[in-house]
Amino acid sequence: MKDPVAAKPQKPSAVSNDGNLLEVHHLKKYFPVTAGLLRREVGQVKAVDDVSFTVKYGETLGIVGESGCGKSTTGRMVMRVLEPTSGQIIFNGQDITRLQGRALRSIRPKLQMVFQDPYASLNPKMPVGEIVGEPLLVNGFGTRRQIHERVVDLLERVGLRADDTRRYPHEFSGGQRQRIGIARALALNPQLIVADEAVSALDVSIQSQILNLLADLRREFNLSYIFVSHNLAVVRHISDRVGVMYLGQLVELAPKRELYIRPLHPYTEALLSASPEPKRTGRRERIILQGDVPSPSNPPKGCPFNTRCPKVMDICKVERPELLDRGEEHWVACHLQT
Ligand code: SF4
Repeated sequence: MKDPVAAKPQKPSAVSNDGNLLEVHHLKKYFPVTAGLLRREVGQVKAVDDVSFTVKYGETLGIVGESGCGKSTTGRMVMRVLEPTSGQIIFNGQDITRLQGRALRSIRPKLQMVFQDPYASLNPKMPVGEIVGEPLLVNGFGTRRQIHERVVDLLERVGLRADDTRRYPHEFSGGQRQRIGIARALALNPQLIVADEAVSALDVSIQSQILNLLADLRREFNLSYIFVSHNLAVVRHISDRVGVMYLGQLVELAPKRELYIRPLHPYTEALLSASPEPKRTGRRERIILQGDVPSPSNPPKGCPFNTRCPKVMDICKVERPELLDRGEEHWVACHLQT
């Protein structure tokens, strides 16, 4: 595939000069499939297969797709909690792909995650003050008093109160627990936050409150987000640009308005046609996709979408389409567009 990062003119310090906080080049994650007593490798699950994108300073990139499309795996590799099989991750001008030990720990504060289930990621035996203050304590932020003041400040910025420091996670609602998770993620002044299905477990009314909070915090702290979700409406709400993943590959990437008004990939068209926001996405007719998503351990030859695409052609079954720029920063991988 072409690389939407490399296609731009590169300079020696291209990352900062281009306004890119993050550059991801040809990222892959293959998990081995083993069998037998000796656990011999008999195949591979191609969870992420040659994905490239950038995130600018202060930008929110949405990554959308069905369950199992590789979007969360991509986010976890960017966070360096999952080792890539190959590819390159450039963060703030530094190649962090293979960092280990102290070098990796030194960049960890700048990369934080917000999870889908805040309750599972909050220690139920710790009061909120300790939960939010823990990363500060571990990283030698200052005295206990300074840490307490910082925790109170963080809680107030996410809409909680100073005396919440003494309460335990079970005493909060789902939305409040997500606010605690966000406060903890903010503690070390990160530059990039990967929010993985961060509002999926919340009621719709609470979802918009958390999305608005994330948008406010982005402006206040000059944050960048990778916002991973299966929900097109949620991604639309918060993103500047949106990437669509299918079977481990990025099939379309464009500014939000461009993608939602003028989708070029048949898979994106089908997703939007099923969106509950017909007026805002310009939906006319529901496109019903036939069949299931193929197994990433045995992806189809050619275009990954060819087994379900209503516009499939002969070439689609033999040749994988490259992700190519169609203008207006609108990238698409489809033979219909070549
Ligand atoms: Fe459909 Fe072919 Fe385009 Fe793939 S390349 S999305 S199968 S038309």
